[in-house]
Amino acid sequence: MKAENPSTTAGEVRPLPDGARPDLSNATVREDLAGQGRCALVHLPTGRTCLLPLRHHGACEFHRPQEADDVAAGG
Ligand SMILES: [Zn+2]
Repeated sequence: MKAENPSTTAGEVRPLPDGARPDLSNATVREDLAGQGRCALVHLPTGRTCLLPLRHHGACEFHRPQEADDVAAGG
């Protein structure tokens, strides 16, 4: 077996086509919130939405749909 380049890791993040995000395998994005610069990632099993800024650091913070609607309505 050939040795892999040690600088290449399985978790490497590669540029993807527009709209494709590797962290969305089990989720989707609310476009109304994404349009306001929010992460807007929806955790499908719970229906909760991340209201943190787009490309925020760390893990998503998911909020209830009502809170997401408030943000979508009023910014
Ligand atoms: Zn998030």
